[in-house]
Amino acid sequence: MKQFALVLVHLMLLSAISISRSYAAPVPAQLRVLRTPKKGETTKMKGGCSDARIAKLEEALGFARELANSAAEELSKDGAELSEGVQTWLGPVNRGTLRVQVAKRFTSVARNLGAPLKQVLREPTKGETALLFHCQEQGCSDSLAMTQNKGSTSKFNQIQLCPLFFKGGLDQDIAAYTAKKNAGKRNKFRSPTNARELVILLLSSMLVILVFQQQSYTLLHEAQHSLALLGSSKARDNLQDFTHAAGNTPQACHELQGVSKALNAENWALVAFLIKADPARFA
Ligand SMILES: [Zn+2]
Repeated sequence: MKQFALVLVHLMLLSAISISRSYAAPVPAQLRVLRTPKKGETTKMKGGCSDARIAKLEEALGFARELANSAAEELSKDGAELSEGVQTWLGPVNRGTLRVQVAKRFTSVARNLGAPLKQVLREPTKGETALLFHCQEQGCSDSLAMTQNKGSTSKFNQIQLCPLFFKGGLDQDIAAYTAKKNAGKRNKFRSPTNARELVILLLSSMLVILVFQQQSYTLLHEAQHSLALLGSSKARDNLQDFTHAAGNTPQACHELQGVSKALNAENWALVAFLIKADPARFA
């Protein structure tokens, strides 16, 4: 039954994704994933992803795209910049700035997350701008994922997926958020980075099943660092991690002052989460 419900939700989401708006693409991102070599194959690079992890990544890319599309749609509405949600999580922002940022942080990201994911055995060659996902434990510590742009510190665009990225199961993240909000602590909920895979919400008499993946949330955070996904060549579009040391908690994101909020990667991921969990805050 649970399996059937999941398949049904996936089908519903897939159809929702396929009919979502498409945008004019300047330079579409090329997505690659390093796969584990099969018997007899050799590879120069460590960090190949198993078939199961690649399947999980593909699913997460789809959901992340859906989250980004919803956020782009909601924040494109007239007066979105004046909403309590935007004021609280992105700070003071005018209509024009919000429009420019949303086009990059959600519209471009959604489009680029939809690029075909090609399985490869090698890192991108010199001159290639493809974004490579790889699964490596080295240097992960307590991180879920890490992004590097092609440049002085990296030979290519990459997102390292840490073991923690793939952890996750059933969770009550949106329900937990709602409980906090009802207790008057609407900025003191648990970070969705700790969320797990599936949230089931009962709304009035209608059963609404909302799939929320921790992985898709993490990808939206990483996208705020990835110039390939942002469709940008400006290093400053790679946002800061002001709240990383504080565990990227919503409380830490909320306590940032003024424009720092809109310069922090986690704040944008949180906005996308909240548009899913509590869209009224952005109306
Ligand atoms: Zn970050």
